This record gives sequence, structure tokens and C-alpha cells, in this order.
Amino acid sequence: MNVILLGPPGAGKGTQARKIVDEFDFDYISTGDMLRKEVESASRLGKIAKSYMNKGDLVPDSHIVEMIVDNLGELNARNLIDGFPRNISQAEALNEKLTENQQKIAVVLHMNVDDEELINRLSTRAVCISCQAPYKLKSPDEILNINCNNSPNKDCIIKVRDDDNPKSVARRITVYKNETFPVVKYYKDLNVNLVDIDARGTEDEIFQEISKFIVV
Ligand code: AMP
Repeated sequence: MNVILLGPPGAGKGTQARKIVDEFDFDYISTGDMLRKEVESASRLGKIAKSYMNKGDLVPDSHIVEMIVDNLGELNARNLIDGFPRNISQAEALNEKLTENQQKIAVVLHMNVDDEELINRLSTRAVCISCQAPYKLKSPDEILNINCNNSPNKDCIIKVRDDDNPKSVARRITVYKNETFPVVKYYKDLNVNLVDIDARGTEDEIFQEISKFIVV
């Protein structure tokens, strides 16, 4: 079973994904997390991806599609996919692979938040670079005092993502509107089960809403 989280940067996909994985039994596949690990380890892909990510652009499909389809697993896999597909050609590649694996998309959770709220959330966000858990900063200095609750690794570091600066955030929102949002219509035209989630409430309220659509 495949569940896809779709929504603009700052919609809370990563936060909700962690809740879904804790509550239901899913393998979590996040292209953003995978790419950040590649950047962190300075791998060949990481070096290529870094400049695209920092600017807020999409990493070219040729580097992404293989990375994700190799992780989809076989017929009975339960995948929670976050950050993919990000454009129509990625959606087509995903469909092809799922058909080949005799798998389907159970539901696409399309999370909606207005731009002002997205910018506000991203300008106060920090993440643990070990486990990618997100944190909300009350002030920029607070970052010095936060410890990650989730990472067993004591050396974990909480930092502001390189692409959570105003210029990259603006670019990521534009890229979402131009390249990713058309995926919503693509799935609707294919009669894929796509539900619109109002992602403006509290984390728990949004999770309550999302949980209704996750068939166990
Ligand atoms: P995210 O953590 O999902 O916000 O992704 C962070 C950045 O990683 C994006 O702004 C892109 O540069 C890159 N990225 C993540 N997923 C994809 C994807 N499916 N296709 C291309 N680039 C991606």
C-alpha cells in the first residue's frame, strides 16, 4: 500500500509523516531526507544535489527517480512517500514502477496552507540533522539550547536547514506552484484517491484529519 504526502514546503509533511509512521505500520520514504543524507556524506549525488537544494530548485529527475523506485519494495510493501513526485514526469515514473510491482496508490494526502503561513513556519523552523525531526524556534538564539529528543546519537546537531532562508523559501514555493501543484490535477484525472487536507490547524488536529484517510 502506498500513501503519498503532497504539499508545499512548510505544509508539515515531515511532521505528519513521523506521526503516521508512529501510529501505523509504514516504511517512510522521503526524498528530501535521502538527499540531505547524501549531502551530509558528501557523496557524488550529494555534491550534485546540494546546489539545487540550496537554491530551492528541484534536483534533476535523472538523479531522483532511480533513488526512489529502488526503495518501493514488492507487492505487500507499505510505503509512506513524502516529497515525491514533485512534477508530472516523476508521477509518470512512479506509476510505471507501481504497475510493474502490481502496486497501487491508496491515497494522496494533499496538504494545503496559504503562503503567508508557510513563510512564517519555515522562518522559525530548525531540524535535527541526524533524524530530520523538525523543531519550532521561538527565537533564533533558541537553537543553541535545543537537544533532539529522538536521536539516540548524542552528537546530533539541531540546525536551520540551508534552504530555509527567505530567498530559497520563495523559490521553493514558486517551484511548488509551477511544477508540483499540477500533479494534483494529474492524479484527479487518473481517478486516484486524492484528498485535500486543511493543514492550518495544530499538529494533532491535522493528524486526526489525516488518520481518517489511512486505511489499515
Ligand atoms: P524537502 O525536504 O522535501 O522539502 O526537499 C528539500 C529539497 O530536496 C527540495 O527543495 C529539492 O531541492 C530536493 N528534492 C526533494 N525531493 C525531490 C524530488 N522528488 N525531486 C527533485 N528534487 C527533490
